[in-house]
Amino acid sequence: MDYQKRNNRKGCSCLNCDQPLYGRSDKKFCSPQCRYEFNNYVKKFNNTEKKIIEMTLLQNYDILNRLLSINRKSASRDELRALGFDIDYCTFTTVRTTHRVYRCFNIEYRITKLRVVCIHYIN
Ligand SMILES: [Zn+2]
Repeated sequence: MDYQKRNNRKGCSCLNCDQPLYGRSDKKFCSPQCRYEFNNYVKKFNNTEKKIIEMTLLQNYDILNRLLSINRKSASRDELRALGFDIDYCTFTTVRTTHRVYRCFNIEYRITKLRVVCIHYIN
């Protein structure tokens, strides 16, 4: 019997190059090189995702902050979208009795069907 075939775990392949794996049941990579390449890829991907989230939150904050600086407490969702506001990103959200509130750092707001309203700084 072919040793390699006998020890190949059905369906198990290297996470990096997809070659079949042989040997220990917890093996994830066919070689140290594949482990290194895969871990670098994951690290790079996670850092990229993190940067996108950070940039989006900072951009949202900047937009809300600019509205407050000119005494505006609400804006239409369309206007905010055009300014680059991404409604899917916030730093905190909770439900208060009748409505949900959102926060972007120290700025709180509510989202209605058409508008972002009650924009204000929290203490
Ligand atoms: Zn591999």
